[in-house]
Amino acid sequence: MTQLLYYADSTQLEFSAEVTAVQENKVSLSATAFYPEGGGQNADVGALAWDGGEARVTDTQKDKATGEIWHTLEGTLPPVGGAVRGEVDAQTRWRNMQRHSGEHLLAQAFFRLDPRFAVAAVSMRNAECTIDLEGQPSETDVRTAETLLRETLGRTRLKLRTVDVPEAELDRYPLRRTTKVTGTVRLVIFEDETGFFDVSACGGLHVPWAAQAGPVAVLRTERIKGDLTRVVFVAGEEAGELLGGIYQQSRALAAGFSAGPADLTARVEALRLSHRESEAQLSALRSALIAHEIAAAPLETLGEVHLRVLELVDAALLPAALNAVPRGEVLLVTVAGGKVGLASACGVHAGEVLRSALSVSGGKGGGKPEAAQGQTDNVAALLAAVRERLHAAAAPLKP
Ligand SMILES: [Zn+2]
Repeated sequence: MTQLLYYADSTQLEFSAEVTAVQENKVSLSATAFYPEGGGQNADVGALAWDGGEARVTDTQKDKATGEIWHTLEGTLPPVGGAVRGEVDAQTRWRNMQRHSGEHLLAQAFFRLDPRFAVAAVSMRNAECTIDLEGQPSETDVRTAETLLRETLGRTRLKLRTVDVPEAELDRYPLRRTTKVTGTVRLVIFEDETGFFDVSACGGLHVPWAAQAGPVAVLRTERIKGDLTRVVFVAGEEAGELLGGIYQQSRALAAGFSAGPADLTARVEALRLSHRESEAQLSALRSALIAHEIAAAPLETLGEVHLRVLELVDAALLPAALNAVPRGEVLLVTVAGGKVGLASACGVHAGEVLRSALSVSGGKGGGKPEAAQGQTDNVAALLAAVRERLHAAAAPLKP
């Protein structure tokens, strides 16, 4: 059976061993410091080297039936019976241990706040780790637990101790969660001279000192099915990197306001208000401009219909112009580039007139009785066709 070096010392990352079996692109060893995926903790990766060869270890898995640990290799395989030197990737391992220890410690902080906040499930697969809690903790509870843990990590000397305890002696330890494990149970304990802080049955790997898992920061909570609250947190170096990165972004953003990150919320709120006022002013100015332009546009009488023709430079003003058609009139708006609109505040059907006129001038468009839009390459032909159709139109509303 493989000797599990990671249980003897989770900080030992280099080791020597003998290849005991080879299967496809996997090898098993007489001893290993590679932790196999399990208990929510990711598999170790790293490298194996031997006389005349080397390969990357891209995955480590435990065969549940036989208990054998298989190292997946990328590259050539060492011969069975040959000696290898293994090296676990230090950064991946350390961060996995920080995540895992952060999970135990944060769960204990919630448990101390209220024993109803019991852990239903955990995940440490990604930098953003999760604990699913029962008991529906509020935002205040979350911040209280986070603060309790921060102060505990900063002000105590909680040390890791792992012990294998016979099932019958478990009642001597204040387990945070009851365990389904039978026989000999591996307990992971964070304690100091005053006693236990957290005792959990766990097969994973953890940092030697609780403070090495810090900082532990809760990013957010989510309500998930089963009335559970998912607490999303980051721990250790990954927490430092994430929070530091967010500070740098905030600082760069705040510099645009000649302010510091602490003033950012107030500055953005002021900007939002100012933007809303500017939008209102712009809208009022557009309306005034359009009213002025429409009043200045010459009014033609075509049979019983009154037509105004308005030329606009800015296509963005077209919808507002069509909305402002004077009562009893038809308004034809042309925009540089061939965009056209027709609005009616009399009995004329703008959509039908525009569609029919565009079929003569070339182009496409149409719309409702009150307003229609289209596109043509021949504005002069369109104007002539619209005039012709309005001339033939009858019975408009009186102005
Ligand atoms: Zn654990």
